[in-house]
Amino acid sequence: MATTASARTLDEAKLDRINWRESAPFILLHFLPFLAIWTGVTWFDVWLCVGLYAVRMFFITAVYHRYFAHRTYSMNRVMQFLMAFGGSCAVQKGALWWAAHHRHHHKHSDTPHDVHSPLKGLYWCHLGWILCDKHKETQTELIRDFAKFPELRWLDRHYWFAPALLGLGCYLAGGWSCFLIGFCLSTVILWHGTFCVNSAAHLMGRRRYATTDTSRNSLLVALITGGEGWHNNHHHCPNSIRQGFYWYEIDCTYYALRAMSWVGLIRNLRMPAEKQLLANRIEDGHVDLGMFYAQHNMNRFSYEDFKQMASNYFEAQQKALGSFVESTLNEVKNIELLQKSSAAPAPQSTWAETAAEYRDKIQRFTFSMKGQSQRFREHVSEAAQHVRTWTADHSPANAEQMAHALEETREAIRGAADKLNQTLEQAIHELHLALARLEGMAPANA
Ligand SMILES: [Zn+2]
Ligand SMILES: [Zn+2]
Repeated sequence: MATTASARTLDEAKLDRINWRESAPFILLHFLPFLAIWTGVTWFDVWLCVGLYAVRMFFITAVYHRYFAHRTYSMNRVMQFLMAFGGSCAVQKGALWWAAHHRHHHKHSDTPHDVHSPLKGLYWCHLGWILCDKHKETQTELIRDFAKFPELRWLDRHYWFAPALLGLGCYLAGGWSCFLIGFCLSTVILWHGTFCVNSAAHLMGRRRYATTDTSRNSLLVALITGGEGWHNNHHHCPNSIRQGFYWYEIDCTYYALRAMSWVGLIRNLRMPAEKQLLANRIEDGHVDLGMFYAQHNMNRFSYEDFKQMASNYFEAQQKALGSFVESTLNEVKNIELLQKSSAAPAPQSTWAETAAEYRDKIQRFTFSMKGQSQRFREHVSEAAQHVRTWTADHSPANAEQMAHALEETREAIRGAADKLNQTLEQAIHELHLALARLEGMAPANA
């Protein structure tokens, strides 16, 4: 068993290593722009560099990402081919290869299976994963819906065709300097701009949604990548054509796609539902599982952190519960006061209706809180299991001590959860008493 595991690890380590021979063109292209020292640079070269960066970034985000990987809109077959051709000018292989790997990323984000897991470090998620042999092939099984088109398979096999044409075009348009700056430099910057989505967008910025990965929202990355920086939004709602959810979340790719839809080039733009925008928000007390897992997977983990996080969680829940009870009781009290002081009080049936509404609201709240608490405990147990296995594999000497610490933590969490449940039951009782008063309230002048 141990031998198989280590043999597998060895094989994987080999696949993870840089393949220098096959990566040579990629590395070489980084140095070619320096030759411009001898050719000189014209303004035309510089503007072409900027233009080709922006246009090709659009093809990557709008087409490879939002169309081929996520199908957030539709278009006809000719348009689909032209757009895929435009995408392959970005020198990031064919649409099928790109989109299949990206689908894999969403399926396994931030787990050890993730193609460019940020947990393997900045170098790996930014660059390392494309320099090794492991991810060379197109994972056709993940992109069957598009792999059925022979013209896309052709582009995937001959992914060098469009870049070669573009490079030649640049040379013909402005000579060697134009090739070096307009094509080579622009391509290198474009690569690193795109890679930022896999690296920076998982490492810097804010998290709005409690996704199970480490994706973040970053204006800086959004500006570099034409809107892909709203990556936490995107992991929360990958089927949405727009990644900036609010007017201040600048998403140029979306604006351009919207404009294309006005002239009929694309259709069926998929927007996030209002309900989705509000779901699973960290500010509403949803457990930030992504960061929680990340800590464990990186084994940057201490039991003190674990306990602290659990107690923070339950404290936040208690607070949410407290404010819900307080505001509901206040609302009920206001209704009572209004009824007593009113010259023409509402009939009893109105109060029965209002009370029923409140009962419904309380039930929903209780249900969601109990569900969250349950989910949290499940995740904690899962994480504990992970830590236990990891310790047994990597540091057997500490296994017993770790097991003991884990048990202690689990006990603390159990205690906090019980306390929360008790408070919840008490609060529900109090609320129901208030509602009973409301229901029984007869008109004051009766
Ligand atoms: Zn991601
Ligand atoms: Zn995506």
